[in-house]
Amino acid sequence: MILNEDQRALQETARRFSRERLLPHYQQREADGTLDRALLREMGEMGLIGMDFPEAYGGLGLDGVTIGVIAEEIAYGDFNVSAVPVGASLMGAIILRHASEAVRETWIPRMIRGEVVVGICVTEPRGGSDAANLQLRARRDGDHYVLNGEKTSISFAAEGDAFLVFARTGQPDEGARGVTALFVPGDAPGLRRTRFDDVGSHIVGRGSVFFDDVRVPIENRLGDEGRGFSQVMQGFDYSRALIALQCVGAAQASLDEAWAYTREREAFGRPIAQFQGVSFPLAEGDSMIAAIRQLSLHALALRDAGLPHTAEAAMVKWMGPKTAFDVIHQCLLTMGHYGWTKETPHQQRLRDVMGLEIGDGTAGVMKLIIARERVGRCAVQYL
Ligand SMILES: Cc1cc2nc3c(=O)[nH]c(=O)nc-3n(C[C@H](O)[C@H](O)[C@H](O)COP(=O)(O)OP(=O)(O)OC[C@H]3O[C@@H](n4cnc5c(N)ncnc54)[C@H](O)[C@@H]3O)c2cc1C
Repeated sequence: MILNEDQRALQETARRFSRERLLPHYQQREADGTLDRALLREMGEMGLIGMDFPEAYGGLGLDGVTIGVIAEEIAYGDFNVSAVPVGASLMGAIILRHASEAVRETWIPRMIRGEVVVGICVTEPRGGSDAANLQLRARRDGDHYVLNGEKTSISFAAEGDAFLVFARTGQPDEGARGVTALFVPGDAPGLRRTRFDDVGSHIVGRGSVFFDDVRVPIENRLGDEGRGFSQVMQGFDYSRALIALQCVGAAQASLDEAWAYTREREAFGRPIAQFQGVSFPLAEGDSMIAAIRQLSLHALALRDAGLPHTAEAAMVKWMGPKTAFDVIHQCLLTMGHYGWTKETPHQQRLRDVMGLEIGDGTAGVMKLIIARERVGRCAVQYL
């Protein structure tokens, strides 16, 4: 895909910011383990969050391809920081389409300014792949819903300022039909959160969110009652392509560092770049990452054109994190024993991209989606 002049200018802005401000402190930020709110506000001021939102709310109304290009650039410098703009694009699209004007006007401009982070609560302790079978209860009480239950494995659980919560208003065995989506501020009385001790991506603060008689006004409902699943759970094709580009960014950073190392490091009296046993695995990695980048941007271009892109988004969602993991692993090995120290960022990137082999749907579920797109319900009746 050839980017136009505007897209290239924004890419350059994001690239400079990412390499100068994010990359040098990627591992320190992760060791600190919390969201750097000042940094997020700086990104907001620079227009690096929510640029796809309409101008009326403070965005630029940009296309998905441009948002994907920016996501890759930010992830090049810090994979975990890039979760904030990617999350904002997913949540913002849902809020814009389904929330009341009051919720939109209060929250979207603050998301764009980097002042607030919104999480999404689908997964429950009993499982995430079978998402439609969720059981967190939302009971109607006058002009409120009352939430009781637990969501788990939620990105930004620990520090999120608000959550999009999928809850059951219908019968427990109704599947997708009895699910309602609600917008719940993080300071709602009765809402409690925890933080997990994860393998990577600590600043994302994955954890559980507990709801103990949490009252949510009816105006905070997203879409119609009982139609939260079919109406509101639409934005995932978008975030899947963006997630793939986050992984592409992280892998490209490791590739660039590994290539540079092959020029400088010598063995047997010559740069290791001269050994095809060293250069070919990197050349293969560069090829695969370039291919995934292009398919991800193609999925976003289809979205921008209003065309179906579910299969393409599912393809890159499983290939992106897996290939990035394999490529970063190879980059770590290229650096020999230096790669095995925590001073090089490859080990951090490995741990970070691995999380997205699970988050937002596993490879198994992505392949079911692709099969369903190709041969319909005969491939999978329960998804
Ligand atoms: C980094 C990270 C961030 C996350 N962020 C969020 C978030 O913000 N919000 C949220 O709601 N959730 C989030 N999750 C949860 C995530 O969406 C779930 O973990 C995921 O959907 C899988 O659910 P599960 O872990 O319960 O696995 P299970 O559903 O229990 O599945 C276990 C294993 O069985 C496989 N499997 C299950 N069914 C099938 C099938 N039919 N065919 C083939 N294989 C199958 C799965 O692929 C998996 O390998 C996050 C997870 C991670 C790791």
